[in-house]
Amino acid sequence: MPSQQEQSFLAKSKIKTADLEHRRKINFNISKYNAVIPQGKSQFSDVNLAKERAKNVKWRAIETLDQYLEEFESRITRQGAKVIWAENAQDALENILKICKDKNCTTIVKSKSMVTEEIHLNDFLEKNKIESVETDLGEYIQQLDGEPPYHIVTPAMHKSKEDVAKLFAQKLGTDPSATPEQLTLVAREKLRQRYIDAEIGITGANFIVADIGGIAVTENEGNARLSCAWPKTHIVIAGIEKMIPSINDLSLFWPLLSTFGTGQKVTVYNTLITGPRQAGETDGPEDMYVILLDNGRTNILASEKQRESLYCIRCGACLNACPVYKNIGGHAYETTYSGPIGSVITPNMRDLGDWKHLSYASTLCGNCTEVCPVKINIHELLLENRNEAVKTGESNFGERMAWKLWKRAMLNRRTMNTGNSTIKNWVVNSFVKEWKKNRGEIVFPKKSFNQMWTEMKGKN
Ligand code: SF4
Repeated sequence: MPSQQEQSFLAKSKIKTADLEHRRKINFNISKYNAVIPQGKSQFSDVNLAKERAKNVKWRAIETLDQYLEEFESRITRQGAKVIWAENAQDALENILKICKDKNCTTIVKSKSMVTEEIHLNDFLEKNKIESVETDLGEYIQQLDGEPPYHIVTPAMHKSKEDVAKLFAQKLGTDPSATPEQLTLVAREKLRQRYIDAEIGITGANFIVADIGGIAVTENEGNARLSCAWPKTHIVIAGIEKMIPSINDLSLFWPLLSTFGTGQKVTVYNTLITGPRQAGETDGPEDMYVILLDNGRTNILASEKQRESLYCIRCGACLNACPVYKNIGGHAYETTYSGPIGSVITPNMRDLGDWKHLSYASTLCGNCTEVCPVKINIHELLLENRNEAVKTGESNFGERMAWKLWKRAMLNRRTMNTGNSTIKNWVVNSFVKEWKKNRGEIVFPKKSFNQMWTEMKGKN
């Protein structure tokens, strides 16, 4: 019996695949991304070597993650920040609420962070009567529309400028024919006051830097800087896998993330935060908290094969390259992390039985692996998830029997040569009706390889 998540995924995917207007918008936005990627890549004399080096750095960070986390904690604590270890989402949420109560907080400004999506922070804060305002323009649009982000880098990728103008007109009373520049100015004006009102600013972290005890935040709008520098309290929430060993590694990771995330050579604002405001400094928060979140990441760390998925720097390139993502879109997955990398990590961070279907939502074309800046073997990890699902009894009886028979037939020359292609087509396609629901017919060639081989040898 398919899980409820699988049924919902299939139903939503079916609708989206037939939605040509959705596809047009996605193809348009991804084509703009594809057009600028070569510019970003041109800054590397050998982009493949850069990717190789990045993979090695992340390998070192993840293999000795415990040591780097402790190094980070001890340094940033010495610089005045408080580190909180959160085992799961509930832990993180309770700690954030406690800080909010201590600070009498009623308004929070938040910069874009997928980890806060993962723990459903905004819903939680709303239930506790704390207003949380998204300050990244794409996230602000999504929040106005009551939708989760569609893409890990480009939250409103599925919306055209006309969609956004309509949304702003409905929610903020702007002119429906306003240009993107005018709409941006409206959002800017609204948000400026929120920075002033907010008692707390929340950001994520693109990287946790062990040797300086710092948090690296990358953004294009300056909203993360305002979120962490203006309110009196700054909370950072970061997955533990965001670790890099040294500040020197940023000279590689910042351009790589920019290039593969948005095609820029370097993102507009890159900020390093190493603690709250120090004596003699003119700005920055009085208090800084860093919440280091596990939430299933150590499950992945425990698996020697899957561990490499923790190298991900969330650039989103694999989503843009994936033919499945481009057809079904980001919301069909119903996960925080969608696309190929989401399909790899979600079953391992959450529940294999509920989410294994995502590992089958791939053509295994390998395009995701090809584009990944840290060279994660994404398509092989998808296969590994499938393997794990079979080993742990998560595949169904019919599927197991079908593959058993298939294997037996394929390994036996006489069976392979029995009957012509019409009979084989009929036999096999009658057995795999369920499998064929979302796939085409299996068509056998007129002659088997063995027959062709024999004929060819006869000619020579
Ligand atoms: S898996 Fe690779 S390509 Fe995909 S988001 Fe992560 S770093 Fe980018």
